Amino acid sequence: MPTPNIKREDLATNLLPPTWASHAISEVVISPKALHERVKELGNLITEDYRGRPPLLIGVLKGASSFMTDLSQSIHLTVEIDYMAVASYGTATKSSGIVRIVKDLDLDLTDRHVLVVEDIVDSGLTLSYLNRYLKTRKPASVEVCALLVKEGQQRAKLDLKYIGFTIPEGFVVGYGLDINEKFRNLDGIWRLKIGYESKI
Ligand code: 5GP
Repeated sequence: MPTPNIKREDLATNLLPPTWASHAISEVVISPKALHERVKELGNLITEDYRGRPPLLIGVLKGASSFMTDLSQSIHLTVEIDYMAVASYGTATKSSGIVRIVKDLDLDLTDRHVLVVEDIVDSGLTLSYLNRYLKTRKPASVEVCALLVKEGQQRAKLDLKYIGFTIPEGFVVGYGLDINEKFRNLDGIWRLKIGYESKI
């Protein structure tokens, strides 16, 4: 199934930002409806691919929390769920790829089919670090399900088995994604207003 590729000209223009967030966000990048439909599709694909070997889903806090909740409910298998928290050095809108584990996993990965549930892949440096780290725990397999991938931004070579949407460059918030801990509670994915970052 092809990955929906959101181009600038496809951006929905008829959906207005909620008033409480309109000072910070400009346009919708992925509407709540498109987002929830695609998450269901991903859940169905994963259900088919992992039949007979239910995966251990690993979410990366905090950004993947909304995605993990909805995706796991769309997978019709007895999955297990664990979370890691990482701190990535960098500015508010750019990660450096230098990652520190703030909360490690609770579950043992030995011989498990691990599926990393990631919110967004930009340079790919964070995910590349996590992949290497998880593989040292002797899982049977490690695959990645990323909700969003930014077009043409990857600096690390990544093999992403499931991708929700590819989106154009630019900082986005909503559906778990934040800027300085705000706007995670927006439904849908929204573009941050240019200059907002410098005002905080
Ligand atoms: P990467 O290491 O791939 O450059 O960045 C990955 C991490 O940076 C993501 O897990 C996310 O936490 C953060 N990130 C990258 N791009 C965005 C974005 O557009 N919006 C938000 N809120 N976080 C982002």
